[in-house]
Amino acid sequence: MVRSKTKRSKVKAKARRAAKDSKYVYSFGGGKAEGTAKMKELLGGKGANLAEMAGLGLPVPPGFTITTEVCTYYYDHGRKYPKTLQASVEKNLGRVESILGAKFGDAKNPLLVSVRSGARSSMPGMMETILNVGLNDTTREGLIAKTGNPRFVYDAQRRLIQMYSDVVMEKAAGIEPEDGKGIRQQLEHELRKLKEARGVHEDTELSADDLRGLIETYKKKVLDVLGKPFPEDPMDQLWGGIGAVFQSWNGRRAIEYRRIEKIPDEWGTAVNVQSMVFGNMGDTSATGVGFTRDPSTGRKIFYGEWLPNAQGEDVVAGIRTPLPINEAGKNDHTRALASLETAMPNAYRHLEKIQQRLEKHYRDMLDIEFTIQEERLWMLQCRVGKRNGVAAVKMAVDMKKEKLISKKEAILRVSPSALVQVLLPMLDPKAEQATSPIAKGLPAGPGGAYGRIALTADEAAEIVEKSTGEDAKVILVREETSPEDVHGMHAAQAILTAKGGMTSHAALVARGWGKCCIVGCDAIEIDLAAGTIQVGEKELKRGDWISLNGTDGKVYAGKLPLVAPNLEANREYGSLMGWADDFRRLGVRANADTPEDAKRARAFGAAGIGLFRTEHMFYGEGSEEPLGKLRRMIVSSTEAERRAALDELFVNVKADVKATLEEMEGQPVTIRLLDPPLHEFVPKSEDKLRELASDVGIGLDDLKRRADSLHETNPMMGHRGVRLGVSYPEVTEMQVRAILEATAELLRAGKKAHPEIMIPVVSTAAELAHQYAIIERVYGEVAKKTGVKKIPHLVGTMIEVPRAALLAGDIAKQAQFFSFGTNDLTQMTFGFSRDDTGSFLPDYIASKLLPEDPFSSLDESGVGELVKIAIERGRKTKPDLKIGICGEHGGDPRSVEFCHRAGLDYVSCSPFRVPIARLAAAHAALAK
Ligand code: PEP
Ligand code: MG
Repeated sequence: MVRSKTKRSKVKAKARRAAKDSKYVYSFGGGKAEGTAKMKELLGGKGANLAEMAGLGLPVPPGFTITTEVCTYYYDHGRKYPKTLQASVEKNLGRVESILGAKFGDAKNPLLVSVRSGARSSMPGMMETILNVGLNDTTREGLIAKTGNPRFVYDAQRRLIQMYSDVVMEKAAGIEPEDGKGIRQQLEHELRKLKEARGVHEDTELSADDLRGLIETYKKKVLDVLGKPFPEDPMDQLWGGIGAVFQSWNGRRAIEYRRIEKIPDEWGTAVNVQSMVFGNMGDTSATGVGFTRDPSTGRKIFYGEWLPNAQGEDVVAGIRTPLPINEAGKNDHTRALASLETAMPNAYRHLEKIQQRLEKHYRDMLDIEFTIQEERLWMLQCRVGKRNGVAAVKMAVDMKKEKLISKKEAILRVSPSALVQVLLPMLDPKAEQATSPIAKGLPAGPGGAYGRIALTADEAAEIVEKSTGEDAKVILVREETSPEDVHGMHAAQAILTAKGGMTSHAALVARGWGKCCIVGCDAIEIDLAAGTIQVGEKELKRGDWISLNGTDGKVYAGKLPLVAPNLEANREYGSLMGWADDFRRLGVRANADTPEDAKRARAFGAAGIGLFRTEHMFYGEGSEEPLGKLRRMIVSSTEAERRAALDELFVNVKADVKATLEEMEGQPVTIRLLDPPLHEFVPKSEDKLRELASDVGIGLDDLKRRADSLHETNPMMGHRGVRLGVSYPEVTEMQVRAILEATAELLRAGKKAHPEIMIPVVSTAAELAHQYAIIERVYGEVAKKTGVKKIPHLVGTMIEVPRAALLAGDIAKQAQFFSFGTNDLTQMTFGFSRDDTGSFLPDYIASKLLPEDPFSSLDESGVGELVKIAIERGRKTKPDLKIGICGEHGGDPRSVEFCHRAGLDYVSCSPFRVPIARLAAAHAALAK
């Protein structure tokens, strides 16, 4: 683990505190608990919530939690435990024994426990769990006598051997077997062999004697393969399990997941030791999971799934497709299945009451796990449930309306990054109507997606890494997913699984990431070897296109177009954004260069344009004509030639600016003067060069010479921005004339227009003064020509060069506003070329030399310091100086929070990110 100095000292302080207090174990159950839900840091999420439920008097199997501090201690002390731990564990085990009247390791009345991980924030399926700890050849006899169910007891023992040998004896011991040779697979192979010999298909068809024999086979195999006997001593089993959970914190999967989710390595996991309850004791037993509201849509219904005669892992692992918990939660797909509500009405009623009570108590949507053992309900877990962005918005607004939470809490309940999912594209409904789905599954993650079929996680990750554009879009299609698949799931546009329910691994992970996902789509049959999926008569191959509607669970063959969602119809979204706007202080504008972008930005709630890049008109569709004129201007060799070309270009610039000003109806539009190095626009191909030469009326060689003379070694720091306006004042002049004339004409037509002229790449006040003189002169000329005496406008500068930030006090004497160009400011502060970071930045991030890409999230300690200096010095000169940001960071929630704290007036970002910035600004204002 690489740790920063502060983190290291925090960890040491934590360890010192722990050593002093020596309270490493917290008990729960029997109507009380030593911990509470607030103690997640110490007890992990699972432990803290088990304690809370036990404290509320809910039926929680008694147990205890070994704290996360023990995990930290373990890694800091060469994988050893604190001295007092053993005694504490034994004491707490004794407490569980006395509550239940059973004894761990007892031949007549044995207590069995589970050993589970529990980090501060949930890491679904990433770490280890061992069930049925305490079973051996002696205790099983006691359990058989107690339950009268030898088959169940043998099955539990063989499951223990299977799990324990895999998790403790192989994985935690650092043994890395060849593919398919792991102990778990070898034992599963023995199970399959036995079934074949008996001529049966299901495990449940094996007799008690078969299973007893299988236990012996398993033990021999463990000894053969791992060179050690399976431990019969229950205490050895318990400590082996505890150690394996701590080890699993640093397993490959867990590390990978933490990297994606940005969970610090230092947090550590707690270990929960809890008495076993069994959902697999026959037809009056069951297990399930539920959500107090539907986590996919946010609907206020108790939503969940259950399986009769099963253990919890069977639901989460997606091995059997579970049944709907109640009638209200049924959909077309599950209509005919039996619900818990009808199959076990008493247990269901009890559960329903508990879920209501828990939601009121926690004042949030919860995800709960339960087991019913011979009709008796036990609560195994509760935690604040993961939800997608669409559901998060609905729940927050509904809960505010139900008076469960306040308006402020509702705003804070939706993370700005989750809001992206509300804005997410969906399959074009028209295209969906014109075709029929090939299959339907459970809608586990909303939105639409298309991509090429990948049948393994590695395949998906590889395609994405090696391809670009549309070719890099894949849909991962799996029987079911497991924690080993996370890299491929992350790389894919969407996930489709044949098995599993709404709480399967795929659904849980996709929900956390806000990814389009369909699970339990049992009409598809995957043939990995042939590289195909069969859906009824239809066969699709790996690499074929498919499209998913994750909101309805529909799967289509081929590539269906995506469209933006109808936000106006989403009332909850409207309410939430309205509340956010009431609380935020920061203004939010958009970076937009066309009337269409401007329109979109306003629809998303932008209050102006913070960056209109004039050069936009020279790229892409419709750019041929203005680009031709610009090129003529660039290769001019005299001012007269240049002015002639500029006069022609003027028409295009004016029309472009005018259309956007008109669209914004008087809202401020910050128009930046031409910024890129001119060489960027010189044609590359011989044909185009020849065309330009004939246009200008010179020979090809002459043109090439002129073009070559523009070449720069380091164009990002070369002849660009204000420097162009200094060398060629007529370029500034033309643009300013176009802006002011467009404005004057709009005013004369009775419309409103408010341009703000912005000068880029400034590093001295003198450059600004030079440009101001031009602007002032042109203003007089335009006022005279148009007869409009007062043309409203501001003139300001970008702060994107470190020197400009340092000399902001001087620069503010001239400027009426500042806008931080943090793309360039980051480039020049770090000295990282913004166009070349791909070759080294990933190494910096992987090695934790930088916490993240400073071009995505503002580097507060370096670039942020310059921003603060510039604000302080600028406002010292001009207290009412208007200050904004228009670099990419303006749409990044963490950077928006910084901008709020730093005292900026507004942020400007791409239109799509405007709602995210609005919500992030409200979060910043509400943060303590
Ligand atoms: C910036 O540098 O942050 C900026 C907004 O300008 P550009 O990205 O066009 O250089
Ligand atoms: Mg810039």
